Amino acid sequence: MSIFCEPGEFVLVSACLASRACRYDGDATPHPEIMRLAGLNRVVPVCPEVLGGLSVPREPVELLGGRAVTRSGADCTEAFQVGAQLALALALDKGCCRAVLKSRSPSCGSGRVYDGTFSGRLVPGDGVLAALLKAKGIEVLSEEDI
Ligand code: SF4
Repeated sequence: MSIFCEPGEFVLVSACLASRACRYDGDATPHPEIMRLAGLNRVVPVCPEVLGGLSVPREPVELLGGRAVTRSGADCTEAFQVGAQLALALALDKGCCRAVLKSRSPSCGSGRVYDGTFSGRLVPGDGVLAALLKAKGIEVLSEEDI
């Protein structure tokens, strides 16, 4: 399937899928189709957690009770929300009607996220950025959908 709504438009993508080493563990998770589109200058890569001021590497975070909390219990909710708003502003500025975001992330995950116990268990839900984009009418896919 085409991930573009219109010819010539841009798609918002998780920066780690476009080979940016912005994950909590300092790594990237490049995806072949996202890399191909990045080579054609058709994507807008964003890492909402870095945009929100968090460092690379950083402690892993999961969502618990509507908050973004690190494994050691620090509350990062504000940084997540700030980063999501900045990423949304970029998406709107570039006219993106779709996003392809990294699955299961507490920011980027769509439909399923970890349950907040750091045990690898998944529950229905959206990451902070995915939820914000959906609320603003931007369709969210995961890299597993393309
Ligand atoms: S916040 Fe999103 S873009 Fe940033 S590393 Fe996590 S999954 Fe990738």
